[in-house]
Amino acid sequence: MKKLSNFVSSIAESATLASAKRAKDLTAAGRDIIDLTLGQPDFVTPEPIDAAAIASIKTGKASFYTQAGGLPELKKAAAAYWERFYGYEPKASEILVTSGAKFALYAYFLSVLDPGDEVIIPAPYWVSYFDQVKMAEGIPVTVETRLEDHFKITVEQLQEVKSDKTKVLLINSPSNPTGMVYSKEELLAIGQWAIDNDVLILSDDIYHRLVYGKSEFVAISSLSDELRARTMVINGVSKTFSMTGWRIGLAVGDAEIISAMTKIASQTTSNPTAVSQYASIEAFSDSTDSYVETMRSEFEKRLETIMPALENVPGFEVVKPDGAFYLFPKVAEAMRMTGYDSIDDFSSAILEEAGVAIVSGTGFGSGDHIRMSYATDLDSLMTGVKRLKEWIEKRSI
Ligand code: PMP
Ligand code: GLU
Repeated sequence: MKKLSNFVSSIAESATLASAKRAKDLTAAGRDIIDLTLGQPDFVTPEPIDAAAIASIKTGKASFYTQAGGLPELKKAAAAYWERFYGYEPKASEILVTSGAKFALYAYFLSVLDPGDEVIIPAPYWVSYFDQVKMAEGIPVTVETRLEDHFKITVEQLQEVKSDKTKVLLINSPSNPTGMVYSKEELLAIGQWAIDNDVLILSDDIYHRLVYGKSEFVAISSLSDELRARTMVINGVSKTFSMTGWRIGLAVGDAEIISAMTKIASQTTSNPTAVSQYASIEAFSDSTDSYVETMRSEFEKRLETIMPALENVPGFEVVKPDGAFYLFPKVAEAMRMTGYDSIDDFSSAILEEAGVAIVSGTGFGSGDHIRMSYATDLDSLMTGVKRLKEWIEKRSI
């Protein structure tokens, strides 16, 4: 008997989670590994958020199911947060609270894609987009961007891949894995193309408060009523408030699509965990502003410290990211120097021989980059980069 479905056999495990597990397993087995795999802040959740969660448990409020689409109080808090950071206030019918942003993305694909519909995904892309589109029977259509262009897509490229099956254009700014942030002008041009071609926009803004230097986050949904109407925004608490374990995401957009996504949530997750929803009400209030800024400025400090060290690694080419907490060096030359022609083999060798866990570019749609997360302490980061440099110098042929 064939046990597994064709469906599950056709999709890949999340590359980021798989690399993180491998690093943890090796550490548990006694190996000295510097783990730069996972994109999750290394801070504990801000205290007011914890306090709100504990109160909701103590008062018994967290014991029960909530509305499938999220607590009305949380939708209200999210709407007020939106007013602050997006400049418009969505109605409750335009908001869905999900079990993590990852599920919000999947519920969106399930809600808008018919079999064969195409989703344009700028590459390099975050690992889950590609397989989620396939899981919803859509077709991921990637548009290659280059390090030299700071990983940005152009309207000309969009025009080249457009077909009569194009349904959605995905935008992720600040980007995981590249850290690229689009400017207002760039988003206006991309947005106009979507309007002219009647394509929906999916904007994953999960890193919206993690921008550095002079960079500014611009929301495509805030640029005009027309763009807002066709954009589904994905956001959440994981990155901004260091709440990856709490699993709360948000989708904000067209009420009809939100209602469809809510139906999917009601048949799958029932509701996002109640205690996490009560915690998130506090997260979206301004009581957390100073905590968010402390974490953001710490990431920026790490970036400023690690960049010169990384630029010194032989065969690494890197552009300074404007946001998120990842470095995405091009390592084509380092692969050549060490005799590797596969990025997966090169990444495995770094893990096995240098004791540094990074994520191979493959899962992000790249054959000659690696991703390193700097959401870890500075000592580990510096040690990791030092090990990389020494390993490449030693292995160069
Ligand atoms: N989008 C991007 C770009 C991400 O990096 C992540 C990783 N956490 C998510 C969505 C999913 O976030 P969540 O933890 O809320 O599922
Ligand atoms: N988004 C994070 C990352 O890219 C967490 C892992 C995941 O959700 O894939 O590392």
